[in-house]
Amino acid sequence: MRIIVMKFGGSSLAEPEKIKVMAERAVKARKRGFAVVMAVSAPADITDDLITLAGLITAKPEPREYAALLSTGEAVSAALMAMAINEKGVKAVSLSGAQAGIKTGSAHTGADIISVRPERIMRELRKGRIAVAAGFQGLNKAGDITTLGRGGSDFTAVALARSLKADACELYTDVKGIYTANPTVVPQAKKIKKISYDAVMELARSGTEVRQLRAIAYAKKHNIALHLRSSFENEEGTLVGNFKPSGKKPEVVCFFIRKTGDTAEIRLIGAGLKNPAVKNAVRRTALTSGHPLIKETYTPARIILITSFRSGDRLLKNLHKVFIDTTGLKL
Ligand code: ASP
Ligand code: MG
Repeated sequence: MRIIVMKFGGSSLAEPEKIKVMAERAVKARKRGFAVVMAVSAPADITDDLITLAGLITAKPEPREYAALLSTGEAVSAALMAMAINEKGVKAVSLSGAQAGIKTGSAHTGADIISVRPERIMRELRKGRIAVAAGFQGLNKAGDITTLGRGGSDFTAVALARSLKADACELYTDVKGIYTANPTVVPQAKKIKKISYDAVMELARSGTEVRQLRAIAYAKKHNIALHLRSSFENEEGTLVGNFKPSGKKPEVVCFFIRKTGDTAEIRLIGAGLKNPAVKNAVRRTALTSGHPLIKETYTPARIILITSFRSGDRLLKNLHKVFIDTTGLKL
């Protein structure tokens, strides 16, 4: 059996029309011969709304009840998705995290996945059904519902892919993949075809929210290849895997900027970046473009540059030109 895990983020499930489009994606994969397992997030802002709702009742909810509440968003998506697939004449079944066999540690929120018992999913797949698992939730030893931390549906997908020995694990969102920089700031930014687990983890640590950090760490540990792609377009997205930098040369894969108060923070993510030639290139770019650096921090995996708020976007563009657009940069 060729198994594909397809995970959909909340923005792809925000309205009934979108749920129908994603259902069609699953049906198409089924028709291409895959046994399809879906992992779904809560529709759009539902999780935030549930958090707000809890806050209107109590400032200190019991963790057990908090997890019970937060997990309901994904249950909504899973049931609606199964209905949407059934409506297309293909059999589907929604499963809670517990039914999908997701076993977690004892913590009610931010729980870790300890093991996955995929027997129920396998039974459904053998019957020719699409299994739609609610993301972000599991069951602890005490038999209570737990949640997996914000963005935790990624974790569900990756853990399912591992336990099912899936042939592919696709994570669908409203972006086409990971870009070398935010295209609204840097029009020349390109979609990255392949990126390492380490670089994606670095991005997650930097607070870009591209993916849940622990999900990527888990994928790295178990060598699960991921395909980050668009829910709304068919083009290839970004592959995340055990890709090593192309040699001993330093490699910048991606940039981003965060502005706070009067300053802008630019981050360069990559490998081998703690290198005098890289430092020189960074400094030369800042100097020649007239954007003085207030602070610089270099580690092999990232460079953090602080400049003035006004300089931020332009310095980012110039650095992008030097490190990404210019081929054959002498480092
Ligand atoms: N709905 C949860 C959250 O917003 C989990 C997820 O989206 O993956 O954090
Ligand atoms: Mg969500």
